[in-house]
Amino acid sequence: MDIQNAIRRLSDSIKLKTVSNQIYSTIETKPFLDFQIFLETSFPGIHENLEKKVINSYSLLYKWPGKNSESEPIAFLAHYDVVPVEPGTKKDWLFKPFSGEIADGFVWGRGTLDMKGALMAIMEAVEKLLNDNFSPERTIYLAFGHDEEIGGTHGALHISNYLKKQGIRFSYTLDEGMAIIKKEISPSQSPLGIIGVAEKGYVSLKLETKSQGGHSAIPPFKTAIGALCKAMNRLEKNQMPARLTSPISDFFKAIGPRLPIQRKLLFANKWIFKHLILYLLGKSDNTNAMIRTTAAPTMMQAGIKENVLPCYANLLINFRILPGDSIKKVIKHVKKTITNDSINIQICKDIVSEPSPISSSKSKGFLNIQKTIRRIFPDTLVAPGLVSGTTDSRHYSKISDNCYRFTPFVFGPDDTRRIHGTNERISIDNYVHGIQYYIQLIKNSSANY
Ligand SMILES: [Zn+2]
Repeated sequence: MDIQNAIRRLSDSIKLKTVSNQIYSTIETKPFLDFQIFLETSFPGIHENLEKKVINSYSLLYKWPGKNSESEPIAFLAHYDVVPVEPGTKKDWLFKPFSGEIADGFVWGRGTLDMKGALMAIMEAVEKLLNDNFSPERTIYLAFGHDEEIGGTHGALHISNYLKKQGIRFSYTLDEGMAIIKKEISPSQSPLGIIGVAEKGYVSLKLETKSQGGHSAIPPFKTAIGALCKAMNRLEKNQMPARLTSPISDFFKAIGPRLPIQRKLLFANKWIFKHLILYLLGKSDNTNAMIRTTAAPTMMQAGIKENVLPCYANLLINFRILPGDSIKKVIKHVKKTITNDSINIQICKDIVSEPSPISSSKSKGFLNIQKTIRRIFPDTLVAPGLVSGTTDSRHYSKISDNCYRFTPFVFGPDDTRRIHGTNERISIDNYVHGIQYYIQLIKNSSANY
């Protein structure tokens, strides 16, 4: 493998500012078209041998026909849009966010982790296999969306609708979502590769209320802001019920043998200690999000002047919905908890998503991903898991029962905050292993089963 050129190509991909703004119509489209041309010139083998279809102007679908048309195809999913750099933080970047600088053993810039790094690693792997005259047994699709960061409804949703119309179903799909966490921060005392088998749902609710305005020198007993604060306070005190879903209990089953003795006993006798387990998991932010639907107040608007009582106030609460719960259940819970009929509740329509179905952690696809992780990252324990964010994968559950979410990069303690944050970067070691992983996975998955 020509590592130096692969790294240079990754660096070049970062230089194209394929930024997703919150409002789709305001997105600058030229870098997206430039990115398509960049892929064509960087990967001539792929563009000669695979069938390419551009969907909704910017999303890309490649088909690598397999020798055996009877075998169900598989799909590697990725997105090439990136989030903007937060205003005011540019000065904190060690290298300009779109420089693609190669320095200190890293490629730096927005999108290196989320997720041009994986997209480019997939392309490198396929190009390499084509150069080696490899041809897959089963058909492989590469599906790259262009608006994942704002919901994927213009990209991934269009691609999956197109595939559905063709009657295509996948043996499995693989997208971003989880990764390998380093030994130092792993609860299993070894590197831990987590394959997301489901993802939480997403809805934001807008709570609005009106009240008499007037002079702040003579306030009434009930104010608009006061009512919303009280409602939020009640929601924080009365969270939605905790539950052990199968991705989480399977996760603890997999890492159980590596846990300290008390915890090991706890999880080995899960049904006896169910309440204690839920109580313990509910105590930290991270594990609480694994066992229940969470409510996060993210925006509040009211008032125009410090001595004027606002007649109107609104509060936005972002919910991440546990599999088994639903948007309907969330609204019911909010109404029941706040017990205030004067507060109007509305769904924000930008991104709305029910929790995904749960994919099997025993399917051939899962076992192939697991086997490949163990091969490329020896000593890594592999476990299924639940993704608390959203990914493009959810648009594919209608055309595959097995949607997996795993990126083959090893994350240390400060890597996750770089995603969507400052100084996003990928180590060259991570990138090279990523390419090797996709090469191996294609070989493992290509065989008939
Ligand atoms: Zn992403």
